[in-house]
Amino acid sequence: MEQADRGEPSGTSRGEPSRCKWCRRVLPPRGVGRPREYCSQSCRQWHWVGRQRAAELQLSESELIVAKDELDRLHDEMYVLACAVDDAERDLPGAHSAAELREILDWLLEAARPLRDRELRPASQR
Ligand SMILES: [Zn+2]
Repeated sequence: MEQADRGEPSGTSRGEPSRCKWCRRVLPPRGVGRPREYCSQSCRQWHWVGRQRAAELQLSESELIVAKDELDRLHDEMYVLACAVDDAERDLPGAHSAAELREILDWLLEAARPLRDRELRPASQR
């Protein structure tokens, strides 16, 4: 579902769901009118800021400047999630009770939650 065709631009071919041009979250289907391009006003804004900065720096359509601390936070959260996945893969074969499974799931969810809520922003300052 969610993981399909991440690399494709939003709103293309074959009845795939449209995605926000900034954060890539799937947009709710819209019956009539112009299709939405962004999931929120802030995504519209970040996309615009990113394009402005890219134009100033003569970057291509596919390049973007992201602040180092923003990227560090993302990498930290990905690392925590990777460790939790490792833990879960190690512990799952030995887990037999519902309580043990629940504990593994809670640990995974705790590690995944920051990524669910993460919003990346383009670097807008020099
Ligand atoms: Zn969005």
